[in-house]
Amino acid sequence: MPLEVHVGFDDTDSPLGGCTTYIGARLVEILAEKGFAFLDYPNLVRLNPNIPWKTRGNGAVCLRLSVGGEGDYEELKETVLAFIRSHYEKAWKDTEPAVAFLRGSVPPMLRSLSQKALRRVVEPREALRVLRACGGEALELEGRQGVVGAAAAVGETLEGDHTYEAVAYRLPERRGEPRAVSFDSVVEMDRATRPWTFNNLDPETGRVLVTPRGPDPVLLGVRGETPEAVKKALSMVETGEKPERWAVFRTNQGTDAHLGETVKIRDIPPYSAVVVEGFVAQPPQTAPGGHVIFRLKDATGEIFCAAYEPTGNFRNTVRALRVGDRVKVYGGLRKAQPLGPRTVNLEKLEVLETAPVVEFRSPLCPRCGKRMTSMGAHKGFRCEKCKHRSSTLRRVPFPIPRSLSSGLYMPPPRAHRHLTKPLSRYGLEKAGKPGSPPRPEAFWGLGPPA
Ligand code: ATP
Repeated sequence: MPLEVHVGFDDTDSPLGGCTTYIGARLVEILAEKGFAFLDYPNLVRLNPNIPWKTRGNGAVCLRLSVGGEGDYEELKETVLAFIRSHYEKAWKDTEPAVAFLRGSVPPMLRSLSQKALRRVVEPREALRVLRACGGEALELEGRQGVVGAAAAVGETLEGDHTYEAVAYRLPERRGEPRAVSFDSVVEMDRATRPWTFNNLDPETGRVLVTPRGPDPVLLGVRGETPEAVKKALSMVETGEKPERWAVFRTNQGTDAHLGETVKIRDIPPYSAVVVEGFVAQPPQTAPGGHVIFRLKDATGEIFCAAYEPTGNFRNTVRALRVGDRVKVYGGLRKAQPLGPRTVNLEKLEVLETAPVVEFRSPLCPRCGKRMTSMGAHKGFRCEKCKHRSSTLRRVPFPIPRSLSSGLYMPPPRAHRHLTKPLSRYGLEKAGKPGSPPRPEAFWGLGPPA
């Protein structure tokens, strides 16, 4: 009897090198060559971007396969464990790799765990308990933290909105060297493939976004709506080096999967992804470093919201907010600073309703119609033209037109989280899994993609 098996793994890398997706890409080759059948593209599952102990983008990987029976399952387990054991980053003491295995379909309880891991902090104990309660097992190769990502990757079956990323990996001897990717070819690829690819370039700065920085094995990655689109786009980018391999992942990147229901300010836990609706309580101020900060209130309390310097022109939108504006903020909360207040790091801002802004001006002269001049606080007004004086007239309200209108505003793509849905994806959302299992040639190969 064929058996459905899910293999999730996480925390195999470190700031010194490595990448969990690369382990995934290598395992795909090994398992495909052993004849294991894949039920889905390799899944790249991004989790809560606000947890402090992530290396980079808090990504975990799940491979979903069909095996012939219990004997094949044991062989699969041994193959995966042997490979991860010998390839995780051992030079870094905080790397705590784990692998989660589940046979059969993914139960609702494990799906809920993944939802929590996208938005909140999950304790390794809880992840392990849920995985075991669902009939799964986990192997922690060092430490415990990795089990959260490993189990959550299994539980996120990407049946809601999802995207794809085609990644090219570097030959070992090139890792750590600068990446020579042709700017012009990225511009051309972007022009030819948009809107089926996204976030290739940053429109504000012209910066290329398909290449990471740092010593990891990724040469470049293109994100988009279909496996065909991202693979084609990847093949259009000219690089000064031959990739070792490529792989296409199905993923929750660019879907806002971490932004759930609106929460009350009182109930926001640290290290969480949040959506909060409220009113601007204090005008925006520019802090040292160029960060723009304002205070938001709802019926349960107040919280600071910050558009940090890297969010570029988005800060001008935030600066245009006024007290009383009704807004929805989307973002993440880090730990409360011992000396500072709780602050939402803004990923998106929705202006729901702007408040009327009035300026108080001197009254018009009742005799000649010219605007009068104040004679000082509580001393009345004088007309410079006809010399009329009055101690009873008051300043009059004058409505000021607002530069900000209702709508959704976002930082430029260079400041996006992996999970943030870019404006270009609105209207392109999709649901469901691939109709039939993809053939391995559709999602991996050696060298550059054909
Ligand atoms: P990369 O993106 O390059 O793979 P990373 O940013 O994913 O690196 P990891 O080294 O995988 O970073 O570290 C993330 C750690 O956080 C893992 O141990 C993972 O199990 C754990 N983790 C992920 N999400 C949560 C969560 N919501 N609560 C608690 N721990 C989590």
